[in-house]
Amino acid sequence: MEGKAVKIPLVDLKAQYAAIKDEIDPALASVIARTAFVAGPFAAKFEEEFAAYLGVKHCIGVGNGTDALVVALRGLGLKEGDEVLVPALTFIATSEAVTMAGGRVVFVDVDPETRLMDPDLAAAAVTEKTRAIIPVHLYGRPAEMDRLCGLGGQHRLWLLEDGAQAQGAIIGGRRAGTCSSAGCFSFYPGKNLGAYGDAGAVATDDDELAERIRMLANHGRLAKYGHLMEGTNSRLDGLQGAVLSVKLRHLDQWNQARRKVAAAYRERLSDLPLKLPQDHPGHVYHVFVVETDRRDELLAHLNENGVGASIHYPDALPRLKAYQHLGHKPGDFPVAEKLAATILSLPIYPELTEEQIDYVAGQVRSFFQGA
Ligand SMILES: *Cc1c(COP(=O)(O)O)cnc(C)c1O
Repeated sequence: MEGKAVKIPLVDLKAQYAAIKDEIDPALASVIARTAFVAGPFAAKFEEEFAAYLGVKHCIGVGNGTDALVVALRGLGLKEGDEVLVPALTFIATSEAVTMAGGRVVFVDVDPETRLMDPDLAAAAVTEKTRAIIPVHLYGRPAEMDRLCGLGGQHRLWLLEDGAQAQGAIIGGRRAGTCSSAGCFSFYPGKNLGAYGDAGAVATDDDELAERIRMLANHGRLAKYGHLMEGTNSRLDGLQGAVLSVKLRHLDQWNQARRKVAAAYRERLSDLPLKLPQDHPGHVYHVFVVETDRRDELLAHLNENGVGASIHYPDALPRLKAYQHLGHKPGDFPVAEKLAATILSLPIYPELTEEQIDYVAGQVRSFFQGA
């Protein structure tokens, strides 16, 4: 009963706003004062800052993370029917973007330890039509870029990172999103670096690709008129740019705090019959994902006791109705399917207090120990 009053959400954006209100409010006011709402100086400033943070030449702000993937694929030159390898366990935006860009989605099962695209299975999935691989740094855990880039090099494929859950993650001394042709980011409010609405970006070192992406995201133009091709309308808002500039200053410290929460969970939960996420020095724990055969019961127990646990994601993508037409059968992606049935995400955010961590861990413990 004692737990009923406690409420620990999966993410707490209110706590974050309270901590940075003094920076956010004037930043928003200055955008409004200059009515710089779409693209413009505040969006451009964030693009520069994020490019510098990542250590790349170009950052192109777009409307959201899904569009970032679409314009990057189109900018690379994806053609109708080109096959693109995508992990079977990710948010649907990754595969959706392939279809929106005219490509064909080819799912690849994930590795049971990293829960990310399995490089051996990716190699086995390559055909003459394969043009690109999209590794996803899912949950903030860096993908195996060395091996996937090796595979890409061998078959002359484009690599495009989905870094929507991994702003600030580090892979061999480089930031996630800078280890391929382009890195695609979402700044959906709940991400490690989140805007106050929809926003996204593409990062790349390639001058020509950057220019094509910028055109594609802005009606195929570089100047006001004189459209050089058809593109779309997907630009970064000034208000979002201003929010992101403020938050970027805190990102590394927030990611450190997330790693501390992850370490605290590890300490408190390691003796329970629960599989904890594999660590990686560059992991930024967008979510903290545990595994248990009793997932549904544990989820119900936590939710009943005020803990906002959730599932990322309850279905392997090939099992969704949206991908019925691909004709996959149960068991075609055994690892992703098993994970979808056994994974559970515990609350993790930088502002989570020691007391809250103790409470969440205590609830997990009481579930397994029947207290
Ligand atoms: C959030 C997310 C996206 C899409 O981003 P939006 O900004 O919501 O369009 C893409 N891929 C992954 C893995 C995500 O988590």
